[in-house]
Amino acid sequence: MNNIFPTDKLLQRADKEKLLGQKSIAIWFTGLSGSGKTTIALALEKELYSRGLLTQILDGDNIRTGINSNLGFSDADRMENIRRIAEVSKLFVQAGIITICCFVSPTAEIRNAAKKIIGADDFIEVFVNTPLEICEKRDVKGLYAKARKGEIKDFTGIDAPFEHPANPEIELRTHELTVIESVKKIIEKLNIA
Ligand code: ADP
Repeated sequence: MNNIFPTDKLLQRADKEKLLGQKSIAIWFTGLSGSGKTTIALALEKELYSRGLLTQILDGDNIRTGINSNLGFSDADRMENIRRIAEVSKLFVQAGIITICCFVSPTAEIRNAAKKIIGADDFIEVFVNTPLEICEKRDVKGLYAKARKGEIKDFTGIDAPFEHPANPEIELRTHELTVIESVKKIIEKLNIA
């Protein structure tokens, strides 16, 4: 069946960016559990909001419990998880929205898959580089303790690898930076505000 709404008649991303008075982008946080992805994303969103910029955060909480609630943690499901996250991110970016994605995304393969779907020009990789010992000490959700006891298998950093990004656009060493300093670093680098 032909699409009754020809896509060339749709409003373009540029129209929406103009309406919102901003340039959209996907900001992709990668890092160990407890490294600070969500904490920094929330502070970044608040700061951008105060500057009149529209954002959307995507993270495990709103994705795994919603659109991806039927997925588990097999290799195939992990790839499908990322594929859907990246496709959703792309839609937000097309709508002119600054999209902040917080996912451990432990391998180059996973991050590259997301980058390919979203588009390299719209993808900013932020490596939240916090040493494992510190993440484990924080143990925000008690997951490291469970992983150490063997109650969780294949936990990134404990018995599953985290591949350090080779060339992240931004690196945040949260053991050396405050949350505010990390936010500042992102905003300066992105030149979006
Ligand atoms: P992730 O989303 O990467 O799993 P969270 O943001 O949920 O990590 O947890 C990070 C924890 O570390 C939070 O409890 C946060 O308050 C704490 N924290 C301490 N110092 C920092 C810092 N400088 N930057 C970010 N988070 C920090």
